Amino acid sequence: MAWAETFHCDVCNKEKREEAEDWWRAWKETLSPAEGEREQAVIKMTPWHGFLAHSADVRHLCGRAVCTPSWIAGCSRSSALAALF
Ligand SMILES: [Zn+2]
Repeated sequence: MAWAETFHCDVCNKEKREEAEDWWRAWKETLSPAEGEREQAVIKMTPWHGFLAHSADVRHLCGRAVCTPSWIAGCSRSSALAALF
């Protein structure tokens, strides 16, 4: 029996179909502009890649026009990340 892996959009919960090519991976990082300066938040996105979609800190976003902006808006409102902006 083959092992079937499924992913769902972290915003709308849509299941990713094998043939769907308009999905994204997104995650948050921090960077230091210079030594001693306060860290800044960074949001990164890349086109979908199944091998790179397993990390616990990676969010999965479908191609719907509302999901990516909604996720980014949620990041900017979250207290942990907003404290870094
Ligand atoms: Zn979605």
